[in-house]
Parts: sequence; C-alpha cells; structure tokens
Amino acid sequence: MAASETALRVLEDRHKDAPHQKDLDKCVHCGLCLNACPTYRELGVEMDSPRGRIYQMVQVATGAAPMDEGYLEHMGLCLGCRACETACPSGVEYGKLIEAARTEIQAKIKRPFPWNIVEAFAYETLIPSPLLLRITGTALWLYQKSGLESLVRSSGLLKLMGPFGKIEHLTPEAQLPTFYSQYGKVFFAEGERKYRVALLGGCIGNIFFARLHEATVRVLQKNGCEVVVPAAQGCCGALHAHAGRREEARALARINIDALLQTPFDAIISNIAGCGATLKEYHEILEHDAKYHDKAKVFVSRLKDVNEFLASIDLNTKMGEVKRRVTYQDSCHLCHGQKVKAAPRKLLKLIPGLEFIEMPASDVCCGSAGVYNVIENEMAEQILTSKMRNVNSVSPEQIASSNPGCMIQLTAGARLHGKDKLKSNPEPVKHIVELLDEAYKNAT
Ligand code: SF4
Ligand code: SF4
Repeated sequence: MAASETALRVLEDRHKDAPHQKDLDKCVHCGLCLNACPTYRELGVEMDSPRGRIYQMVQVATGAAPMDEGYLEHMGLCLGCRACETACPSGVEYGKLIEAARTEIQAKIKRPFPWNIVEAFAYETLIPSPLLLRITGTALWLYQKSGLESLVRSSGLLKLMGPFGKIEHLTPEAQLPTFYSQYGKVFFAEGERKYRVALLGGCIGNIFFARLHEATVRVLQKNGCEVVVPAAQGCCGALHAHAGRREEARALARINIDALLQTPFDAIISNIAGCGATLKEYHEILEHDAKYHDKAKVFVSRLKDVNEFLASIDLNTKMGEVKRRVTYQDSCHLCHGQKVKAAPRKLLKLIPGLEFIEMPASDVCCGSAGVYNVIENEMAEQILTSKMRNVNSVSPEQIASSNPGCMIQLTAGARLHGKDKLKSNPEPVKHIVELLDEAYKNAT
C-alpha cells in the first residue's frame, strides 16, 4: 500500500473525539513546560513530559506509531493536572489533548478482564446513581463505625490484598446523613437576601464530604445568599471526561443543564475544584450538540467556584479568630484548569488570627488527580512525598485546600510524612470554606 494511502486510512480510522491536528500543531516543542510537569520532575523522561506526550499523540495521529503498550503507559501516567498549560507560552490546550487521547484509547483498546467489568460498573452504573452511592456510603459507614475497618487494618489482612491493600488507607470516612438528604431544599439567607444561588453536590462528594457541603451552605447564607440545592442535578461527568468516556460526560452535562437552567440563579456554585473545571467546559463538551451548545454557554457563564464567588462579593467579615498557621495547596483544576489562584489566598488572609504562609511549589500537583492515586498509586505516592517536603518546609499546623480529592491525598500525606503539629492534628487538611465556617462560628 502506498504511503499516502496508509496516511488516508489512518485519518479515516480516527475517532471523532481524537486529538485534532490543529490543536497538536500549536506545540512548537520549546520545552518550556517540562519543569512544570510533576511526572517529568520525578522521572526525567522526555516521553513522560508534556512535549513528549504531545509528540507521541502526533505519531499516533499520523500513523507513524501504533497505539501500543508504551503509548498507553505514557498517557496513563499523565496526571491531567494541566500545569503544562499554565507554563506554555504558545497556548497549547493540553487538558483538551489528553482527554481526547484517552477518548480514542477508550474507544479502540479493550481493557482486560476483570478491569473492563469493574470500570464499566463504576462509571456507567455506580457513579451516576444517587441510590447506589447512598447504599455504598451506608455500607462503608457501617464497616468503618463498627470497628471492622480497624480490625482489618490491624490484622495484617491488607498485606495479602495486593494493590487493593496498598490504597486502602486512602479510603475517606463515609458521612451520614449524606448530602443527598438536602437535595430539593432551599436555605434562606441570613439577613437581607442579596443573591440566589444553586449549590452542586457532585456524586461521591455527597457521601464523603457531606459536612463540607453543609459548611458551604452556612457560609453562603452568612453572605446574603439564598441557597437552592436542586433535586434534579447529577454527577458533573468530570471523572468520565478524564477517563475518555466523552459520551457519558455529555449525557451527564445535559442532565445538569436541564436541572440548573430552569431558574436564573445569580451563580451556580461548586466547591469541588475538580468538578468545577469540567463544569466550566460544558460548552466545549457539547460543542457539536445543536440543541445544548447555547444552553451550555449560559450554564458556564453562571458557574463559579465557591472561592471565586466569595472573593468577588463584599464578604461578611464578622468572623472570630482561627489561631492557626496554615499553608495552601493549589488545586490543579482550580489554578491551572480554572485559572483561579488569587481568590483562595484573599479569603484566607481575611480570616482573623490565621497566619497564612506560602509553601514552595504550591501549584505543583499533590498526586491526587481524580482517581490517579488509586490507579497509578506508585507515582502518586512519589509525587506526594515531594509535595510533603515542601509542606514541611514551612511547618504549618494545617493545610488549606479547595478540592476534596486533594484533601484525601494530603491527609494521607500529613499522616505518613507530616511533621510536628501537622502530623498530630486530627484534621490536618481543611477546605477554605470550612475555615471560613469555623471563623463565623467563632464570632458568636
Ligand atoms: S497534565 Fe500535568 S502530568 Fe500531564 S503532561 Fe501536563 S504537567 Fe505533566
Ligand atoms: S506544550 Fe507549550 S511549552 Fe510545552 S513544548 Fe509545546 S509549545 Fe512548548
């Protein structure tokens, strides 16, 4: 077969959501992103750098290289943290490229048994189902509160469980009642109503971060917000988009658009930075959907991360003291994905008594990255160890965060590698909203 025929066959065979040549062409191979990349910093391997990954995507796109094991490994090891996007002077939208590459992999490569079954169940059945999440959360709560979890941990059984045993310590505490019990409710503003906002609960956030969601409602109420928790909302689809399950992400986006656009809220609030980045990209996810594209643009124009929203209003500063030395770990999907970096710092500096101290490289990923710390546990642990060196260098008593995924990873980091007061703190990590909630409570 002639070379031109082969190239044509490759192009025809491409998945519709595969990386687009025009997006790949933006990379001029300057390498200015390399030092921002956590996997390149750890491994020093070009193929595990943004430039190297883009090069491999081009090779696959043009048919010069197959979609082989090596390609899957290098794409799999990428955190999707998008630090390379911030560093890139040529405007390469790397987040879009890696999701597109994974979508093509997902469509063309069959995962081996039993992972194909486990993955399909998690993404297609469990995560989108509030009922199944509630049942799973309740079962986990019973396992944890009955003492069975402690028994299993002390029995040595985990050592026999291979990779599952190694990631068990990352299991967060299930919280009852879950935040699903608040769906459909309206919480009135304290004092004069200035804003009417909707709060998104996410999916697993409702199970593991129900108290954070409640704190978010209280802080918004303190700031003149009437908070609506729409009953028809669902999972945002971020985990699906990151895993290359683009069609499932589209279906979930449509559900949220239908649920949230019925009322002209002043803002649609997310307190989970990982969800927020995808929610702000609904217009891109639904780019070719004639019915939903314009609606998605309206949705995105109203979407605000909770830090972004609170920092943009005349914040209620009637707070009590929170006497604590706190550092802040940027969530990748807030600072690189949503370009929100100043707002969390502004809020922390407004809390009386709180001593805010910057750590070095606060915008380098902690290794959480959605389910990365579960799937690529070894690299995630390595990145976490480096992160904790930077945390410890400023000796905080607590780490502030804007993303529940990072909170789980950093809590594990503080317990394993934390120093002094951080290590002994029963709550080594708090969401910024929880710190604000504490400050408002201390005012009374
Ligand atoms: S997204 Fe993060 S891990 Fe992936 S290439 Fe970019 S900087 Fe590296
Ligand atoms: S992604 Fe941007 S910074 Fe990195 S090599 Fe390409 S053009 Fe340079």
